[in-house]
Amino acid sequence: MSEIKELYNREDQILHITLADGMVRGLLLTGLNTVSQGAAIHNTSPVVTAALGRTLMGTAMMGAMLKGEEHSVTVTINGGGPIGRIVCVADRDSVRGVVDVPNVEMPLRTDGKLNVGMAVGRDGRISVVRDLGMKSPYIGQTALLSGEIAEDFAGYYVQSEQTPTLQALGVLVNGDAVLSAGGILLQTLPGCPDSIITELELRSPLFYDISRELCYEPMEDLMHKWFDGLKPVILDRTPLSYRCPCSRERMEKALIALGREELTSMIEDEIDGAELTCHFCKKQYKFSQEDLVKLRG
Ligand SMILES: [Zn+2]
Repeated sequence: MSEIKELYNREDQILHITLADGMVRGLLLTGLNTVSQGAAIHNTSPVVTAALGRTLMGTAMMGAMLKGEEHSVTVTINGGGPIGRIVCVADRDSVRGVVDVPNVEMPLRTDGKLNVGMAVGRDGRISVVRDLGMKSPYIGQTALLSGEIAEDFAGYYVQSEQTPTLQALGVLVNGDAVLSAGGILLQTLPGCPDSIITELELRSPLFYDISRELCYEPMEDLMHKWFDGLKPVILDRTPLSYRCPCSRERMEKALIALGREELTSMIEDEIDGAELTCHFCKKQYKFSQEDLVKLRG
């Protein structure tokens, strides 16, 4: 037990790897703390913990692959199911997220797993917005395949970015507790031999249950086991955490952006000023009536 506990206490991280002499690039992610924090902030039911957790990790992986001028990436999954929308934002080492309906309850699937696909729905889209700072953002979207999240991310990479991708994302939940969370992403580079692609597909069932596997072995050991013979190499390790960059200053800007008229009616209606809550971290910001008058200018 103490060994398992020790695994739990590790900080979340993303391993950047290559396989087969660089013909395949990959990411391995451990996300227990990140997913637990998301679940605690939004007080999610088990199936929503899994759906939000998988989306947080999938988005964090996109964040870890951001290129030079890209600041952040926002992923929205809207499948028409009872959960509503899931929105996650990541930069290179942090992620945050929010879900419309955090308390959805669903019967388990026949195989005993949480029915994420039904809660999310699959009648909709996954959309990705890459923030390029001063330039206009890059926006891509594809139809959802299953609402199970990992498959939908992979479908996005294949269809919208023409990058062959295998992805698994898993969250192991027991009641309100998150026991384990992790993910893997593998992308083949142009010119990758078919034999390697076939080999990866054959091995993919090994990592479908990644969250359960992570309960017993650290990510590095799993990597060497899964990719034995494929020359796995760790290129880099980056930390990951659930973090929100909101601040009083940002909230002030949001209030100013409402316009003079809206601010005036707030000042007249709300004798005690206004309280704003950040969607992503639930932090509250209180503005007195005097503050609002100042912001109105
Ligand atoms: Zn916040």
